[in-house]
Amino acid sequence: MNIHEYQAKEILKSYNVAVPEGIAAFSTEDAVKAAEQLQDKGAGLFVVKAQIHAGGRGKGRTKSSGAKGVILAKSVDEVREAADSLLGDTLVTLQTGEAGKKVERLYVTEGVEIKQEYYVGVTLDRTRNQNVIMVSTEGGVEIEKVAEETPEKIVKEWVEPGLPLQGNQARHLAFALGLSGDQFKQAAKFIMALYKAFEATDASIIEINPLALTGDDEIVALDAKINFDDNALYRQPDIAKLRDESEEDPLELEATASDLNYIKLDGNVGCMVNGAGLAMATMDMIKLAGGEPANFLDVGGGANVDTVRNGFRIILKDPNVETILINIFGGIVRCDRVANGIIEAVKDEEIAKKLEDIPIIVRLQGTNAEEGKAIIDKSGLNVISAVLLKEAAEEVTNVLKAD
Ligand code: ADP
Ligand code: MG
Repeated sequence: MNIHEYQAKEILKSYNVAVPEGIAAFSTEDAVKAAEQLQDKGAGLFVVKAQIHAGGRGKGRTKSSGAKGVILAKSVDEVREAADSLLGDTLVTLQTGEAGKKVERLYVTEGVEIKQEYYVGVTLDRTRNQNVIMVSTEGGVEIEKVAEETPEKIVKEWVEPGLPLQGNQARHLAFALGLSGDQFKQAAKFIMALYKAFEATDASIIEINPLALTGDDEIVALDAKINFDDNALYRQPDIAKLRDESEEDPLELEATASDLNYIKLDGNVGCMVNGAGLAMATMDMIKLAGGEPANFLDVGGGANVDTVRNGFRIILKDPNVETILINIFGGIVRCDRVANGIIEAVKDEEIAKKLEDIPIIVRLQGTNAEEGKAIIDKSGLNVISAVLLKEAAEEVTNVLKAD
């Protein structure tokens, strides 16, 4: 789960990570009040930042007003103007795609003088099964680019599972940023606090880009992105409450509500599969056969009438879908039961109507596969059955060509 920058900064602050003063705003009036409050605390410069679940805001532009997603304001009046130009408009950045994201929340924060920008990130290194903390002197730019072009500019420390981050590791990272004296101490403290926040909140990624050395020689986080491990949200109720559903794909939300693992993609072949690994393999086969998957959907081990019905409902809401490939491996679940489940689900009026122009290809393999295939073949439905995954993928190609 993703959260907004202002929420991330509030969490970080509670773990003593240094963050400039800032206040969230949901209207221009809010933004003006926030700026006045910051002014009372001594802020002379402000930055008005669009809160969307995507990065690249500083270089992004809104569709109507053409405003940048991060605006420097020198007065409360300029904060008002900035807020007006952002709220309600759609911000397009490298990460949002052309559709952009509507700006409904702002963060008004103290503007600081930046002497130097750095990068700090914490995530799980899956190849090492250890958390990794990465720092770079190349802050404020896309870290993926740094990783590709000048990987030596990213310095890493891995944390021993079960142990806290060690002081010497944090100092090594602070040193790698080229800092010394008090700034070195501040950076080491920052990294220790950041790692604590990462562990305590079950985050999967924390990225601070940029971490800044300010004109007052303070080390502070100017940006903050946190992703949480969805599987841990049950034990993080306060974090789970921060979910902003308006930032999420509506089909993915619906799938979560039905306990289905669904990820929307851009292709035209809907897929319904039992098991995540098989779902990945199915998507590969579709691509090999010349199609493009419209989604990833794992209906879980059970694949009964209800899961199949919910799966159909979600897949069919995607207007790009031209055909659906159902790929079920009968391990614990029997293929004849799945076949009956599919037939039952297809009887649903709403589903049946949408399926009139969308052929379904069903591949059943494993326990009672032959019986399952016979049930599908006899059903008289607009369903093509296949035994091998290769055959199924070829049927997908045939169906798409026939259009
Ligand atoms: P994004 O990564 O989405 O573009 P950032 O929060 O990183 O958004 O902001 C973009 C740039 O704006 C930063 O790299 C930094 O140079 C500048 N910036 C952000 N916050 C502040 C601030 N509080 N004071 C001064 N400059 C800022
Ligand atoms: Mg940034």
